[in-house]
This record gives sequence, structure tokens and C-alpha cells, in this order.
Amino acid sequence: MHVTHSYDHAGHVDFVGAGPGDPELLTLKALNAFERADVVLHDRLISAEVLALAGKTAVLVDVGKAGFGPSWKQEDIDALLVDYALKGQRVVRLKSGDPTVFGRLDEEIEAVEAAGIPWRIVPGITAASAAVAGIGQSLTRRGRNSSVRFLTGHDMKGFADHDWAALARDGSVAAIYMGKKSARFVQGRLIMHGADRATPVTLVENASRPDQRILATTLDQLPSDLNAAELDGPTLTFYGLAPRQAAQAVTEFKKEHA
Ligand code: SAH
Repeated sequence: MHVTHSYDHAGHVDFVGAGPGDPELLTLKALNAFERADVVLHDRLISAEVLALAGKTAVLVDVGKAGFGPSWKQEDIDALLVDYALKGQRVVRLKSGDPTVFGRLDEEIEAVEAAGIPWRIVPGITAASAAVAGIGQSLTRRGRNSSVRFLTGHDMKGFADHDWAALARDGSVAAIYMGKKSARFVQGRLIMHGADRATPVTLVENASRPDQRILATTLDQLPSDLNAAELDGPTLTFYGLAPRQAAQAVTEFKKEHA
């Protein structure tokens, strides 16, 4: 089957990246799709400020999977997307950050495609990009790391031993999504594979939002510091990056001259 990406039929699905929370970090393309949508199916992580930008007549449906509490099954979300689009609705499937990063996007695309519904992906700013900006660092750096890994703390069992060994090498950088629960496990594996206990680890909670918090620690202290900090918002864990001191200096400079 050939899926066209032109919107001749009224019904279609846009898989849209909502960015990390700050509404200014939405793309214009996301905003346009959002304003034109008849229905917006969104995850729980989407900030209220972003949802407020939906068209006034748009129906908002929270299909988020909460940690506890009632949660939507993936099949139900797939079915709902297809139902709305087949009724001729312009559907926005809004996902936090970039929809292609740990977003279970492919399952939804397959369902939509199987129903012959046109769709497209509108990229967004992923949490790692927002969080690294928050600590004034680069994800890659000449002479330090020429690659960066995006890992999920869920399902670390598929992470082979050679991956741990590579990560344990000096200068490695990883952005770990959903990494709070697995912090102790990750720490254990890395130390087992020879990582330096003094390797910097930085956690950024609520990146780009007014309540952003930064916890700078080391591989050695990660579990205890994480426990003490009680971060309950979405948190990105950087392995191998410390916040840049200069970012602090700039904040102070502004205060002094205010
Ligand atoms: N598609 C999303 C990731 C979904 S997985 C993206 O590209 O960002 C959900 C995880 O993303 C959270 O558990 C957290 O680790 C991270 N995350 C999402 N928004 C975040 C934010 N504003 N600050 C820090 N981490 C965030």
C-alpha cells in the first residue's frame, strides 16, 4: 500500500512533538498543526501551557499513562486515533519532546497506516536537548565525545555488556530517559565495567519549565543524592556531564547588574 502524505482527505493524523514543556520551544509547524486540530490526543507529560495553545474548539483527550492510576492500553490509543481520523477529523497525536524518541511512535503509525489514513511526523525538541541547554553544556565535544547515547532506563536488560564497557570509558556521554528507578542498577553496571566513580552525573528535572531543578553529583553518589533530592517531575539523567560553572557566573553577573 502506498500512503500519500498530501491531505486530500479531511481525516489525517499528525504525530507532533510538543517539546520539553516551555511553549516557546514548540516549532511553528507544531503550533500550526495544533491550532487546526479537531482532536488532540496527548500524553500526561504535556504541560498545561502547551495545551492552552490548542484551537478553541479542539477536543483534548488525555491518553497518558500515569505511573500508577488508570492507564490507557496502547491498542486503545491506536483504535482511537484511527476512529477519529476515519470520521474525517484532523487529529494531532501530541507527544512530549520529539515523538521519535522513546515515544512508542511506530506502533501508532502502523495502526494509522493499516487503516489507509495519511499521516506525518512533526519533530520536536527532545528532553536531552532542553536539559543540556539548562546546564550550559554540549552533548558532543571535540576531543571528548564524538558520539552520544540516548538510553532508556526502562528495559535495560537489552543493553549488552559491550555497551556498558563502551559507556564506562572516559569521556563517554549518555542521556538517560526515564532513568530514576534504574539509577542504582546503571551505577552498578558502570562501576563493574571499570567506570571512574568520580564521573560526573547530572540530573535535570522539569527541563525548560519554571520549576527546573539541577542535581549535580557523581557516579559514586548518584543513588544517595537522587534519593535525598526527591525529584518527582520528569527527569533526564546525564552520564558524563557536569553543569558548566560559567552558566552560574552569568546568572550572578546579571543579578549584580540588575
Ligand atoms: N519523547 C520524549 C521522551 C518520552 S520518555 C522526548 O523526546 O523528550 C519520557 C521521559 O523523558 C521522562 O521520563 C524524562 O526522562 C524525559 N523528559 C521528558 N520531558 C522532560 C523534561 N521537561 N525534563 C526532563 N526530562 C524530561
